[in-house]
Amino acid sequence: MSLLEKVANLAKRRGFVYPSSEIYGGIAGMWDFGPLGAELTRNIKNEYWKTMVRERDDVVGIDASIIMNPRVWEASGHTEAFSDPLVDCKKCKKRFRADHIVDDFGTLDPSDFVGLVNEVYADPNTKPKCLECGGDLTEPRQFNLLVETFLGSVEGAKEKAYLRGEITQGVHTNFKQILDSTRVKIPFGVAQIGKAFRNEITPGGFIFRCREFEQMELQYYVKPDKKASQKTFEEWKEKRLQWYLDFGFSKKNLRFKEHAPDELVHYAQAAFDIEYNLEGEWKEMEGVHHRGDWDLRRHQEYSKKDMTYYDEETKEKYLPYIIETSAGVGRVALFALCEAYHEEKLKEGEKNDDTRVVLKLHPKLAPYKVAVFPLLANKPELVTLAKKIYNDLRGSFMVAWDERGNVGKRYRAQDEIGTPFCVTVDFESLEGKDVTVRNRDTMKQERVLIAELSSYIQLKLS
Ligand code: ATP
Repeated sequence: MSLLEKVANLAKRRGFVYPSSEIYGGIAGMWDFGPLGAELTRNIKNEYWKTMVRERDDVVGIDASIIMNPRVWEASGHTEAFSDPLVDCKKCKKRFRADHIVDDFGTLDPSDFVGLVNEVYADPNTKPKCLECGGDLTEPRQFNLLVETFLGSVEGAKEKAYLRGEITQGVHTNFKQILDSTRVKIPFGVAQIGKAFRNEITPGGFIFRCREFEQMELQYYVKPDKKASQKTFEEWKEKRLQWYLDFGFSKKNLRFKEHAPDELVHYAQAAFDIEYNLEGEWKEMEGVHHRGDWDLRRHQEYSKKDMTYYDEETKEKYLPYIIETSAGVGRVALFALCEAYHEEKLKEGEKNDDTRVVLKLHPKLAPYKVAVFPLLANKPELVTLAKKIYNDLRGSFMVAWDERGNVGKRYRAQDEIGTPFCVTVDFESLEGKDVTVRNRDTMKQERVLIAELSSYIQLKLS
């Protein structure tokens, strides 16, 4: 079984991720986060907000609407260019992205992407065959990735709108309002976390590619100076990589992948992906893009509103350049689970063939920080003291309670969901006012005074 399959199984069994509306057979590209997944993603988003907004003087956060005036998507180029050409195999009926099975783009102009793909398919010498069965393919057909919806309650008078295909535009359309209502000065950033929707042709890879997903983004506005903006771009690249290292990702599993000229969207001056190494396959987790002044320029053109910034220092008016960092919450959660997943052979004293599955999640990301057990569920004095400790700790942490089975089984159950500490209340606790605290990663146990338990856990978590 691959790592992804193991993680997907565990995620479903323990309540991290469920297939959406599964009782009706599910729906492609849609997933629900269960109780533990909701905690994990919330922790990811909270840590993101903390480091990217709250701890910075130069970043503010916003929360824009999902549906915007459809003109936004004309200006951003999504209605015309946010589309992937598709081909179907005439024999086995498999569907592919036309560009995915073209190996050689030759010397054609990469900015004319659709034309380029069409040319490759039009020429019998370069037209690819089905990857699965070698059969003939249909001509490429356009497929718009924006999800359409209709507003209004009167049939026949409904207005077409789109669910946002990226959260980016909610920031740029608010650029002037943010300038007018806050005291930000260039360079400054606007961060946002929210849902985006894409009619992905080939959703899959568990929650890797979905049709509904959540993004965490920063749009950082800088002076339109090529060299200086490049420097800021490099700084954000490093900061974003470091963020993953700080949350438990190992260096060997992360890399930057530069977009080749034929992958670069036409307005981007530079683009790098932060990729995660999923068992030898590198997968995009976050994009860091230098967008030039594309977004503000286009909104200025389409809305006919002045989108320039007045620089009080230099007395200049200009359209700032934009450095963007954009990550998928679900992808970060998925790769954090993959990174954390360990199967360990148990050591002496335990059955040799026994393997423990443990999620070594960074404590800040772990759904539960601590679990509390009474040694025996049928001893009211132990249960009462354990419940008191449980309730006291809940004031500061997300705490699990378990009184089923024996302590060994409870440890396994908590290991599997990544709980960093387990606290057991035993008969000695009644006398000595201390408890056993067991560490998830080292499996070591130590006695800690009940009065010091909260500060002990706090210290270990930080
Ligand atoms: P991909 O090449 O994988 O389709 P992209 O380059 O189109 O991704 P961006 O538009 O740069 O992605 O979006 C920024 C981030 O949003 C990605 O790095 C990824 O983490 C997340 N993301 C994009 N599309 C999806 C999706 N369909 N499902 C889940 N997350 C996504």
